[in-house]
Amino acid sequence: MQFHTTPTRVAVIGGGPAGLMAAQALARGGAQVDLYDAMASVGRKFLLAGRGGMNITHAEDYADFVTRYGRATGALRPMLDAFGPQAVRDWVHGLGIDTFVGTSGRVFPTDMKAAPLLRAWLHRLREDGVRFHMRHRWLGWRDDALRFATPDGELTVRADAVVLALGGGSWARLGSDGAWLPLLRERGIEVAPLAPANCGFDVDWSAHFSERHAGEPLTTVAIESTGADGAMLRKQGQFVVTAGGVEGSLIYALSAALRDQIAADGHTTIYLDLLPDLTPRRVADEVLRPRGARSMASHLQSRLGIKGVKSGLLRECLSKDEFADPLALAHALKRLPVRLLRPRPIDEAISSAGGVRFDALDGTMLKAAPGVFVAGEMVDWEAPTGGYLLTACFASGLAAGADALAWLQKTAA
Ligand SMILES: Cc1cc2nc3c(=O)[nH]c(=O)nc-3n(C[C@H](O)[C@H](O)[C@H](O)COP(=O)(O)OP(=O)(O)OC[C@H]3O[C@@H](n4cnc5c(N)ncnc54)[C@H](O)[C@@H]3O)c2cc1C
Repeated sequence: MQFHTTPTRVAVIGGGPAGLMAAQALARGGAQVDLYDAMASVGRKFLLAGRGGMNITHAEDYADFVTRYGRATGALRPMLDAFGPQAVRDWVHGLGIDTFVGTSGRVFPTDMKAAPLLRAWLHRLREDGVRFHMRHRWLGWRDDALRFATPDGELTVRADAVVLALGGGSWARLGSDGAWLPLLRERGIEVAPLAPANCGFDVDWSAHFSERHAGEPLTTVAIESTGADGAMLRKQGQFVVTAGGVEGSLIYALSAALRDQIAADGHTTIYLDLLPDLTPRRVADEVLRPRGARSMASHLQSRLGIKGVKSGLLRECLSKDEFADPLALAHALKRLPVRLLRPRPIDEAISSAGGVRFDALDGTMLKAAPGVFVAGEMVDWEAPTGGYLLTACFASGLAAGADALAWLQKTAA
């Protein structure tokens, strides 16, 4: 869609992946795009994501891919159908950056970094005429005008349409501080409270265990926990013991259900399988073998390779009597209960759940504020790590841009 008369002015607020994608769609559609961001530069969380090896999307079967958004799958599906994992990869390639699929199916830019991609993207956006206004913090509306705090004082801006892409509530120092929640609520827009997603959890470790084992990874373990639907979930992978709890990819993968159980019951318990490649029978046989004068700890190390943090966990979570009882010990090696007390604070989380409810939206437009569209993590969906977050941010940004263009066209007619 192109505007052939005076270009329509659209304000995009928030320069993360969702806002930048909305700006791209709008500029290509012929609108004059002004992008505002509170920070001194755009894409700070995107750049951070690139530091640890950025998963830009995931290569699993699309039918499985869309289910990763859980309850929000239905609402996000049309956006993902329009700009899904393959479209993301094609778009990255179009910016001159190659991608590869890792063994886990996660898709990475070839050098694993976000900076070259962001540089190329911003260059393209400037060529398309997008104007960037940094250090412009959106403060809400005065009548229908947008209020910004800028280094030169408060500024009021009028736009024909607005895309809000203000991010979630984690890593506030990178710009996404959730300060927009009350601004939307004041306007009568339904917003679910922000909650940590893909987060670690607190465990009441003893000082002895914490001092000895904090920072140690548990590789190749499985966790069983109760899923969102009440059924038992089992996942294998790795995580890290921290001074006050647990974190890492295996914990993040289960974190949404764990967080919700803690909210409902005040705590939850995960069950660790410290030897996921061995059957319970084999583990019991090895534990029950005669150990002569050897201590139980060295018996476990020589028969089953249990040492370090795994051995420490058994000591930490079992009573002396249980540790000395071969049958109880064999059972615990396959199903060691660890009680989680609370999620780590939202600011430490990889992402956040909650945000603008889909019920408050008509497509991506706020029902209570016609002409205002929303995209990215500020909308009420969540997903695991592995490229699903960025894919939905890109897809919803593109959808918000396209919806804004269609709405402008309709209102101009
Ligand atoms: C450590 C880490 C690693 C990650 N790794 C991955 C990964 O590998 N793969 C993946 O898919 N996802 C990853 N993510 C998640 C991903 O980075 C986010 O989901 C994504 O950046 C969200 O995009 P967004 O555009 O919705 O919001 P953001 O990227 O948070 O951008 C929001 C923008 O809005 C601006 N803003 C906020 N409030 C205002 C205001 N009032 N006025 C003006 N501007 C404002 C902010 O300054 C910011 O620039 C990672 C996140 C973290 C923290």
